[in-house]
Amino acid sequence: MGDVNQLLRKIPKVDELLKMFDSSFSKDLLKYLINDLLEEKRGSIKRGENTELDIQSISTELKDRYLNFIKGSLFRVINCTGIAIHTNFGRSPIDEDVFDDAKELVCGYSNLEYDLEKGERGERYLHCSNYINYLTGAEDSIVVNNNAAAVFLILNTFAKECEVIVSRGELIEIGGSFRLPEVMMESGAILREVGTTNKTRPIDYINGINEKSSLIMKSHKSNYKIVGFTEDVSLEEIASISKKYGLVSYYDAGSGAIEDFFKGDCFESSIKNNFKSGVDLISFSGDKLLGGPQCGIIAGRKDLIGKLKKNQILRMLRVDKLTISILQGTLRKYILNKKDKPIDRIFEADSDKLKKKSKRIANILKNELADLEIGITELKGFTGGGACPMLEIESYGIFINLKESDLQRVARKLRNFTTPIICRIEKDRLLFDVSTVFEKDINILIEGIKWSIEKD
Ligand SMILES: *Cc1c(COP(=O)(O)O)cnc(C)c1O
Repeated sequence: MGDVNQLLRKIPKVDELLKMFDSSFSKDLLKYLINDLLEEKRGSIKRGENTELDIQSISTELKDRYLNFIKGSLFRVINCTGIAIHTNFGRSPIDEDVFDDAKELVCGYSNLEYDLEKGERGERYLHCSNYINYLTGAEDSIVVNNNAAAVFLILNTFAKECEVIVSRGELIEIGGSFRLPEVMMESGAILREVGTTNKTRPIDYINGINEKSSLIMKSHKSNYKIVGFTEDVSLEEIASISKKYGLVSYYDAGSGAIEDFFKGDCFESSIKNNFKSGVDLISFSGDKLLGGPQCGIIAGRKDLIGKLKKNQILRMLRVDKLTISILQGTLRKYILNKKDKPIDRIFEADSDKLKKKSKRIANILKNELADLEIGITELKGFTGGGACPMLEIESYGIFINLKESDLQRVARKLRNFTTPIICRIEKDRLLFDVSTVFEKDINILIEGIKWSIEKD
């Protein structure tokens, strides 16, 4: 115990530590970090662990923590996974031109909610609904924080304390945090499951209708596919059953393509085409295939959109000026037919082009890291973001063979590079899919790989 007290007394005083830093350091932040650091020191001493107590080493540690804190925790990363719309990496990259235009709108004042004609309060949704209506053929539309919020708002508005009919094959969970049955419960809607996991027929929906029914919902199977003996009810049939029984029909389109999306043998029908079915409402995400900011778009019948606007909950799901500015700019690109968004370039690159890109990178790496086995290989990429879940996109990349004991260590170093690099690990090699690597990042990628392979 005497030892412990003696050691505790050796811990530098807060004031002494503060004196080690000049005025360019924030005193308040230093104090905040010192408290934690000294608390850890006391803990170590009490547990009988060895710990540095001299003021020099503690202030070095403090400086590291200070600089790390200032650096923050959100970084640009280089995505070598080949998954184009990766939720962990912020989904669709936003177009730089669109972002530049938005800068002017958000770094000053704008007429976000102001009617310039009348000189009075206006409507924020207008700036995007004009474009959404044009691009989807919908009568009207609104934008909320994300598609989960869109689903929630629709269910809460049209099905609170009423029944929503959904096929058992479409009770989806996406990304672990969006579970349709739970969102439904929170919205106050009552789930009426019909059909079976693999087969649902029109008659199942009709038999599910009773005096409590208010809405029939269909969901895009964003991250799975039911194969084998299956039967599914088309949007046309859902729309027509709903009309016949006086219910609202709603399609959660998930990724929501503004234009028909073809890739390999996958086809995602555009929202405009989906509306040809006669469905009343469609919702979809802004940051998946669309290539815009995080938001949820609800489009459809004007009277129904009007009801959504009257729901007080909309106020809580309201999008800000940044989202609206970037969405407006992204949608404008579709209107002008400019297919040069980052996500367009990723989907356009064919495997020949990707092979060449891989060769170029691999050749440099082979020169610099002569004792390693490095080469190029065919890979399978994915769209991600709930579009074409089963589609494997032909891609190319670089492999680096490593000893098993080195694989995790190098992958971790790559993640800790100044610009973190995320690759795939497969058996005894690291894989770098180049389809999701931007041209401007290639040199950084090479530097990062070299740095990570070097012995510690
Ligand atoms: C992605 C997705 C959602 C959730 O959308 P967020 O924009 O992530 O909130 C809901 N439904 C479907 C079918 C989806 O694919």
